[in-house]
Amino acid sequence: MADDRAERELEPTAAAGGKTRYDVRANGTTRVRAKSGAIEMRCRLILLATWFLLSMAIMPSLSADEPAAVEPAKRKLVLVAGKPSHPPRMHEFNAGVRLMADCLAQVPGLETVIVLDGWPRDEAVFEGADAVVFYMDGGGGHEVVQEGTRRLDLVQQWADRGVGLGFMHFGVEVVPDQAGDRFHRWIGGYYEHMFSCNPIWEPSFEAFPDHPISRGVRPFTIRDEWYFNMRFVNDEPGNAPWEHEAVSFVPILVARPSDAVRDGPYVYPQGPYPHIQANKGRAEAMMWAVERKDDGRGFGFTGGHFHDNWGNDDFRKVVLNACLWIAKVEVPEQGVESTLAEGALDRNLDPKR
Ligand SMILES: [Zn+2]
Repeated sequence: MADDRAERELEPTAAAGGKTRYDVRANGTTRVRAKSGAIEMRCRLILLATWFLLSMAIMPSLSADEPAAVEPAKRKLVLVAGKPSHPPRMHEFNAGVRLMADCLAQVPGLETVIVLDGWPRDEAVFEGADAVVFYMDGGGGHEVVQEGTRRLDLVQQWADRGVGLGFMHFGVEVVPDQAGDRFHRWIGGYYEHMFSCNPIWEPSFEAFPDHPISRGVRPFTIRDEWYFNMRFVNDEPGNAPWEHEAVSFVPILVARPSDAVRDGPYVYPQGPYPHIQANKGRAEAMMWAVERKDDGRGFGFTGGHFHDNWGNDDFRKVVLNACLWIAKVEVPEQGVESTLAEGALDRNLDPKR
């Protein structure tokens, strides 16, 4: 009966092709030979499973039309929070990534995994990641520059595979000699001590580029420790798009600091720096996105000092959109919609005095 079934179902396909011969071997493997002739069945025991495999080999176009049996794999985003620092409600990285993950939980096609308190003990959490975002303290204490260059090399391997990379707030600052070149390749720029500056001010973001990260973001104004004057590739000012061999760059959040902001004081060191004052009137980028030539994407975001800023819908949306975009998940037409539950900003705060 098994033979009959196989012959009956195979015949029309073989006849239509006219030149294909199928040998089903006793061990269950199947060999396809490009020869004309009748179907030879050498095995008396054809299992249904074998027939299934055969039909897949013969009629791939038919199987392609059928609905997928399993849900397509989700894109994986890993949000890494740095260790606690600063007074309460500032640099609340752990609470921040928890809040972001909550807001991203309902995004179709995205799986968000969080890492708290710095670099994970088990790096298996990074396996299969499509994007990794670092929200943490930086400079010489940046998590990615610990253990010599081991972690930097690991992140470079991700970048080489096209994994998206995002760096937020103090996490955009690195020591040039340690990681400046890497950051240029990953996100097009970085905060450089004594070159960039970190005043607390209230920029007004009034217009946004035609970019997926901007979707649904309305003009907003918000007080934060918005760093500016990053050390971008080739000393680009960063307030307009540019293209270089490693990355193409688009500023997302651009505003013009007042003269008073440039005159300081900055948070640390207080400044003012003559080169910051010399650019009075110039617009600056506080968030930017890059497409890397290795097919990966990246963003830098310099706000995120005050935890309560996550309560602003547009502040939150532009960052959530960026997370989707670097993970290559389609950003919805109106951006990532999210609402915060009552008391959400008071949850998960680090124990601080
Ligand atoms: Zn800060």
